[in-house]
Amino acid sequence: MRFETKAVHAGRGIDPVTGAVTTPIHLSTTYERSEDGSYTDGFMYSRGDNPNRRSLEQCLTELENGHDCVTYASGMAAITSVIEALPEDQPKRIVMADDMYFGVRTLLMETDIGRRYDIVTVDMTNLDEVKNTVESAETGLIWMESPSNPQIKIIDIEAVAGIAKAAGAYSVIDNTAATPMLQQPLSLGVDFSLHSVTKYIGGHSDLLLGAVIAKEDSEMLKNLRTAQHAKGAVPSSFDCWLALRGVQSLSARLDMQCRSAAAIADFLATHEKVEEVYYPGLKNHPGHEIAARQMSGFGGLLSFQVKGGAAEALKVANTVGLITQATSLGGTHTYIEHRASVEKELTKAPDNLLRLSVGLEHVEDLKEDLDQALGHITV
Ligand SMILES: *Cc1c(COP(=O)(O)O)cnc(C)c1O
Repeated sequence: MRFETKAVHAGRGIDPVTGAVTTPIHLSTTYERSEDGSYTDGFMYSRGDNPNRRSLEQCLTELENGHDCVTYASGMAAITSVIEALPEDQPKRIVMADDMYFGVRTLLMETDIGRRYDIVTVDMTNLDEVKNTVESAETGLIWMESPSNPQIKIIDIEAVAGIAKAAGAYSVIDNTAATPMLQQPLSLGVDFSLHSVTKYIGGHSDLLLGAVIAKEDSEMLKNLRTAQHAKGAVPSSFDCWLALRGVQSLSARLDMQCRSAAAIADFLATHEKVEEVYYPGLKNHPGHEIAARQMSGFGGLLSFQVKGGAAEALKVANTVGLITQATSLGGTHTYIEHRASVEKELTKAPDNLLRLSVGLEHVEDLKEDLDQALGHITV
């Protein structure tokens, strides 16, 4: 089956009891035990496993062409679990991309995770630097994010996965921005692909969920599965059901979001109040050629720097009308956000940078809204 078909069918079927086409939500936390001690379909207690979660994990496994998938209560719970799943005998050194989702930076700087692991960041668009950093000390895990957040950097995934393999380190990519529709990291040699399902896969800004898909069986995968039920940061049945509903339309949504984002990037690139646009689909983006090779589309996310500084960027974010000034990405609504003021002193985002997550509105309405908001800039 091709991607679009799997998005609708994988992990699901007609309900054998009622004939329902849409999978029912199973809210029961506990399941009846038979005389011989066995359980129907193996479900015993819903933290351990339940029908909606199993469906979602099967679906995401097939969409990423992976071996197995483990889901969690949020993207951050999945990220924490991946770090903690690093096997005992692996070095506790993690090499990470320098531009990464802000929540990860918070996790590393403000919780015990940062103290328990030796975290090194590197510009992963520079392969020599990645290689030198990885080889300068024993490394357990290499962490990629491509396209990155919010600077939309593109990493050569296959090359970095190769560096990890040569060093005996596990490799992980945060594939949230690309989704399995546009990017298949496991086929490029990455060990684990991770998602905030909250974003494009859920697609409607109405659920929180995280997922890790493994390329193959490993000690680390076993640790991830054990942590899921033992540490208990599990998604609810309802959120799994919502994610399965959302993923059915992923290809239709993201197709349109890619087209609209490309048109908006072109529009902004020639706008007199815009200094720079970061969208991998633009030919002058430093990662354009790599993105064209490893992605089947350039995504619905872009960033741009306005003429002026923080005041001018905030003016634009505050004067859009149709577009919503909000955090998050991958929803049906178009969101604009001034990352520097959200991320405060920990930020690496330039202070005149705005991030745009393109939704499903008509692209001309979005361009008109951006144009009138940019018109408030007087520099
Ligand atoms: C939102 C996001 C996360 C965190 O996911 P939550 O579901 O909010 O916990 C991680 N990585 C990226 C790229 C994200 O956009």
